[in-house]
Amino acid sequence: MKVIILPALSDNYMYLIVDEGTKQAAIVDPVNPDTVLEAVQKEGVNLTKVLTTHHHWDHAGGNEQLVQKSKNALQVFGGDQRIGALTNMVKHGDKFSIGDINVECLFTPCHTTGHICYYVNAQGEAPAVFTGDTLFVAGCGRFFEGTAEQMHAALIDILGNLPDNTKVFCGHEYTLQNLKFAKHVEPDNPDILSRIEWAKAKRDGGEPTVPSTIADEKQTNPFMRVIHNSVQKHAKCNNSIDTMQSIRKEKDSFKG
Ligand SMILES: [Zn+2]
Repeated sequence: MKVIILPALSDNYMYLIVDEGTKQAAIVDPVNPDTVLEAVQKEGVNLTKVLTTHHHWDHAGGNEQLVQKSKNALQVFGGDQRIGALTNMVKHGDKFSIGDINVECLFTPCHTTGHICYYVNAQGEAPAVFTGDTLFVAGCGRFFEGTAEQMHAALIDILGNLPDNTKVFCGHEYTLQNLKFAKHVEPDNPDILSRIEWAKAKRDGGEPTVPSTIADEKQTNPFMRVIHNSVQKHAKCNNSIDTMQSIRKEKDSFKG
């Protein structure tokens, strides 16, 4: 399986997922259809599926135009009726394939009520998860349409239970800002300090900070670390759900 990272707008990422054996391909959150179609042509692949994480315009806003411009008929997957050109409404545990790649839908409502993460597996390879605006590298999405309980379920119970080597491809390049906040929450966490150096080097070299891994996020992402004493102590809370609520609220107005 090959994942081609396609930057869009100021800090969004679209992802072209290619099954190299069959040349079948899917695109995650194609907000810029022209960039997607150029990549499809350059790679010589057969684009048949659109995987939409959520209805916000900077993720789903290109769906209709892509469907019109693509030479193939496209299936458009998503978990929310507000998603443009939706053909396949999915729910938690639904499965489909991209050639020989298996895709499983993970329902992770909170940032929006219909948010879906896509967990992708090919035999003999590290899995990958496309997390939209639920899980970012070192951060998480705002709770626009949901609760701390829901984000806790998404990050701890669902994404946190994926294999440690799962590659994490998120919807935005927010990593350096997120890590500033992570350091504020856990100033003595050495993994966060070295992660900041890693992210700076990547960005200075003009490279994206994706993919991360589930293991990396468990070590450095404060929202995946709400189960730890150090984060609960910072939030002055004695359980992980209240801690989730507290640090999200703090991050909403954090200037760094
Ligand atoms: Zn969003």
